[in-house]
Amino acid sequence: MTDKISDAVARRRTFAIISHPDAGKTTLTEKLLLFGGAIQLAGEVKAKKNRVQTRSDWMNIERERGISVVTSVMTFEYGDHVFNLLDTPGHEDFADDTYRTLTAVDSAIMVIDAAKGIEPRTLKLFEVCRLRDIPIVTFVNKLDRESRDPFEILDEIEQKLALDTAPVTWPIGRGKSFAGTYHLANSTMRRSDDDVEPIAVDGPEDARVAGLLPENEREALLEEMMLASEACRPFDMQAFREGHLTPVYFGSALRNFGVRDLIEALGAIGPAPRAQDADSRRVEATEDKMTSFVFKIQANMDPNHRDRIAFVRVCSGRLKRGMKAKLVRTGKPISLSAPQFFFAKNRITADEAFAGDVVGIPNHGTLRIGDTLTEGEELLFRGVPNFAPEILRRVRLGDAMKAKKLREALQQMAEEGVVQLFLPEDGSPAIVGVVGALQLDVLKERLKIEYALPVDFEMARFSVCRWIASEEKGEVDRFIAAHRGDIARDLDDDPVFLAPHEFGLNYEADRWKAVTFTAVKDYQ
Ligand code: GDP
Repeated sequence: MTDKISDAVARRRTFAIISHPDAGKTTLTEKLLLFGGAIQLAGEVKAKKNRVQTRSDWMNIERERGISVVTSVMTFEYGDHVFNLLDTPGHEDFADDTYRTLTAVDSAIMVIDAAKGIEPRTLKLFEVCRLRDIPIVTFVNKLDRESRDPFEILDEIEQKLALDTAPVTWPIGRGKSFAGTYHLANSTMRRSDDDVEPIAVDGPEDARVAGLLPENEREALLEEMMLASEACRPFDMQAFREGHLTPVYFGSALRNFGVRDLIEALGAIGPAPRAQDADSRRVEATEDKMTSFVFKIQANMDPNHRDRIAFVRVCSGRLKRGMKAKLVRTGKPISLSAPQFFFAKNRITADEAFAGDVVGIPNHGTLRIGDTLTEGEELLFRGVPNFAPEILRRVRLGDAMKAKKLREALQQMAEEGVVQLFLPEDGSPAIVGVVGALQLDVLKERLKIEYALPVDFEMARFSVCRWIASEEKGEVDRFIAAHRGDIARDLDDDPVFLAPHEFGLNYEADRWKAVTFTAVKDYQ
């Protein structure tokens, strides 16, 4: 490894924000970018969201429903660190997109509304992070409003998530009297994020802390802070890195409290890019040779060019502009002539990128979700998941002359991860599968706008889909031969079994003990 690579890796923090809608993810994102100098004025993330939504018609769907379909990456610097924030769609119908994005981060910030505590989507996303041992930093937001007692919130995190908590900061007052954050271990405070540097104080009773509290609540709040510094679990780096403990920060993204505490924490204790498991070996982030994988494809980033951008997470080495990489799935070389970095407002050409960085690679369909790029090594990163769809539909096309065009369009949409495509073995029309119904709306709009293909969806006679495999040679072929009308092939030509309902699936699974039926498939 070279010093340059190991220095670059040590500085990087690649993370996502997980939360329930309305907890304050967008507001926090804006503030992080603002303090990181990536945008001039808070509010630009939302402004940008709106611009994106008006760019093309199919995106009307998201504007109408007030959701963000677009996932993107934002890079900013703070202190000595380079932060790559991977944004995820808020709506659960696009959950598979979010899960794939979480394969590309090293840590996550969990935002909790101080009045609402752990909400369903937070719980769900937390579980995905736990499966991957992603360390979580917790930000309890909206302390400027009526909120729960901080101890109660800590307790709820411990109970509902089975996760130890270590409060690192504590709110100085709350609701109307919220006046700053106090660092329990360092004995420092910030009256707001306008205090760029924390102020050293002599415990919570120091007049500079206590004086901020309203007189009638002072005693009780001071007692609470003393209790927090004495009785709460101290931060434990190993337990955090292993995903058993979350450090907790309090604040208000809207009113500029606690955001600097949070971002400094991510720099100080957040993990640098981790080693990644490939099929043949574990790849260290500081290795010389470039390796990377595609976790997302985005079409229509630029309405003037029908390009597709593959979002690539660099896992090791140095990705250099102009280099030739090997696309391991096909064995063919691919020239990385115009890799791009993304900022809040624009994208720029990336001359070089290191582990933890996410670069966009414009292409015309060469790259697919789950693809691995290397400098020649035959190595595949697995683990970008493909979930068995919960909704299956046949695509009905008004104009039969356009069947071939439809097939091509569906293939492209499937490669981008918009839908999954299954081609029945018996030659009947294609079936598309999605996790959430809104994905079908996006597909329909895009086929209309981009391919001039007006389509409708018909109920398929199937509602359950499972990938099939067997350790016993010939068993899958026998199963297929016995169920020809219920078998289809996915994008990789892997067979799936389609059943009308769970009962039908269980019935076959009972009869075919040597065949496994799986609901999650890693790409490749
Ligand atoms: P998201 O859906 O998680 O992205 O949430 P937003 O960032 O869009 O915030 C949802 C609503 O909560 C908006 O009206 C925000 O202005 C508001 N909000 C966000 N953070 C705070 C906060 O710290 N205090 C208060 N009072 N409101 C907040």
